[in-house]
Amino acid sequence: MSLESLYQALILKHYRDPRHRGTLETPDASVRMRNPSCGDEIGLFLGIRDRRIETLRFQGEGCSISQASASMMASLLEGRTLAEASAIAQRFTEMLHGDAQAARDPSLGDLRALAGVARYPARVRCALLAWNALAEAQRSLEAEEEPR
Ligand code: ZN
Repeated sequence: MSLESLYQALILKHYRDPRHRGTLETPDASVRMRNPSCGDEIGLFLGIRDRRIETLRFQGEGCSISQASASMMASLLEGRTLAEASAIAQRFTEMLHGDAQAARDPSLGDLRALAGVARYPARVRCALLAWNALAEAQRSLEAEEEPR
């Protein structure tokens, strides 16, 4: 099996049998976001404790890239601190912009299966949709912490 077909299978596995799909009744942050160029939608629900992502659930519909990326993200980030999540998001973005070292970085786990998306700029938005929602959720959490 070539690496490419292995990656393809991993994307389909997350798309057809997504991990962490669902909602939270009382999320500490929730964000809904659309990618109009493809029609993808993602809703993220985060439960945070001590600046750590205790629970991450997502809802959504759209292409396999957008939904697999959300499923991989949730699998990888549950239990991580918000700072670790930001570092992984940064590395993932570098990979999608064609950084070959990022594409081999073990810290990205299953997300490395999306490395080939870097060759298709229109699909990069699909892959980043859940991550843009996560960044928005992080901004809203930080805004809550500001002294008023
Ligand atoms: Zn898409």
